[in-house]
Amino acid sequence: MGFLYRSTRNENETATASEAILKGLAEEGGLFVPDEIPALDVPFEVLAEMDYKGVAYEVMSRMLTDFTEEELKYCINGAYDSKFDTELIAPVKYHHGAYILELFHGKTIAFKDMALSILPYLLTTAAKKNNIDNEIVILTATSGDTGKAALAGFADVPGTRIAVFYPKNGVSPIQEKQMVTEKGKNTFVAGITGNFDDAQTGVKKMFSDKALAEELAANGFQFSSANSINIGRLVPQMVYYVYSYTRLVAAGTIKAGDKINVVVPTGNFGNILAAYYASLMGLPVNKFICASNDNKVLYDFFTTGEYDRNRDFILTTSPSMDILISSNLERLIYRIAGNDATKNAELMKSLSENGKYEITDEMKKNLYQFYGNYATTEEVSETIRKVYDEDGYVLDTHTSVAVAVYDKYKEETGDTLPTIIASTASPYKFTRSVMTAIDPSLDSKEDFELVDELEKVSQVKIPQAVEEIRTAPVVHDTVCDKEEMEAVVKKFLGI
Ligand SMILES: *Cc1c(COP(=O)(O)O)cnc(C)c1O
Repeated sequence: MGFLYRSTRNENETATASEAILKGLAEEGGLFVPDEIPALDVPFEVLAEMDYKGVAYEVMSRMLTDFTEEELKYCINGAYDSKFDTELIAPVKYHHGAYILELFHGKTIAFKDMALSILPYLLTTAAKKNNIDNEIVILTATSGDTGKAALAGFADVPGTRIAVFYPKNGVSPIQEKQMVTEKGKNTFVAGITGNFDDAQTGVKKMFSDKALAEELAANGFQFSSANSINIGRLVPQMVYYVYSYTRLVAAGTIKAGDKINVVVPTGNFGNILAAYYASLMGLPVNKFICASNDNKVLYDFFTTGEYDRNRDFILTTSPSMDILISSNLERLIYRIAGNDATKNAELMKSLSENGKYEITDEMKKNLYQFYGNYATTEEVSETIRKVYDEDGYVLDTHTSVAVAVYDKYKEETGDTLPTIIASTASPYKFTRSVMTAIDPSLDSKEDFELVDELEKVSQVKIPQAVEEIRTAPVVHDTVCDKEEMEAVVKKFLGI
């Protein structure tokens, strides 16, 4: 029966794939990592003939070894259906000298839908497999996009409830409206008076609180996570890298086996880690280009080998990347430390106590495939305008960070390999920043007037996700301190 998942902080804590998905986080704050990443033993030419679901099955079945074929196909078929506005699910488009992988065609128009439309299926299937009778309570911290995507995925799913915490002043107006208008009866949303890191730290604290877990269990509940610390998020994210590569093979742009670069606008390091895991499975990647905004803690890390979160948290026009503690980097640290839980736990202790850690030269050598850089808010606007002027294609602010960093990478290295850029959100989610980048005089307009302007300039129809919140009533209006998070969760659960 395949390999196990193991905690990054305790080599003796293991779980099957379904148990790891149910738990979300390992004990003592560790993350589950696969003991091995099996080779994807299907030729790329064969994958190139499959649709998204077919590729998803091949990739996910290698990683989630205790799911049966029937269970996994049920999950995949339920997730990647007409909730997406294109049968391609994740179309690849050529603009500005790169292959833009559009990951925003799901229900909430951000790439989080790629994993969060399947996570509820994986989680409820995992609960059944493991004879869990408790109601599963999803606790989620969001920098803006995970929140709505998780709410949409879990809304009214029997046997589950979901609580979402977002930074009250740290998300775009459209992102906030999407969340606070969520109608699902099992949902709860609260803004916190703090930033994303505060929300994420608060959620992680609740996860590792044993007394709280016991109190929940006594009332028939247990926590799980919809954040990218859950391997049920990461594994579905590996799929689209393989999928997009095989679309380039199908189009004759590359030959099976040719190397490509991958550029990922990065926050919590989940999306780029999924690309790295896909490469360990056999995807031929030359460089993983990690693009940051002004919160450039990862750029500094890749440049110096020191991770240091002691700095000001900057609110940018790419709020979903406004993060100083990139949780999933821990999985990479564990790996470059030679899968050494003790060493990793030491570094993470230093991060929580001193806000920083430094890796050894030996570990740094293992990062040779990673390139980090960042784009300032000004560069993000310029890039949106530049790409729009070229051929009328409108980037969102996060994708623009990636494009700007890719331009820097090319300039620095002269590397001309075919390159896939993960496009993580629709520009409709960040209309004000996007439209004022194209035409600064539009700043005086209302948010939904800007939506209409964007439709005019982009010639892309306004997505359903935006239409439906124009007039929707606010359902959730809780705002709390980070210290109150536990109390409001208990209130939501009635305990
Ligand atoms: C979440 C998000 C990111 C960052 O992804 P990570 O997996 O956290 O690195 C980038 N762009 C958008 C639009 C997002 O929603």
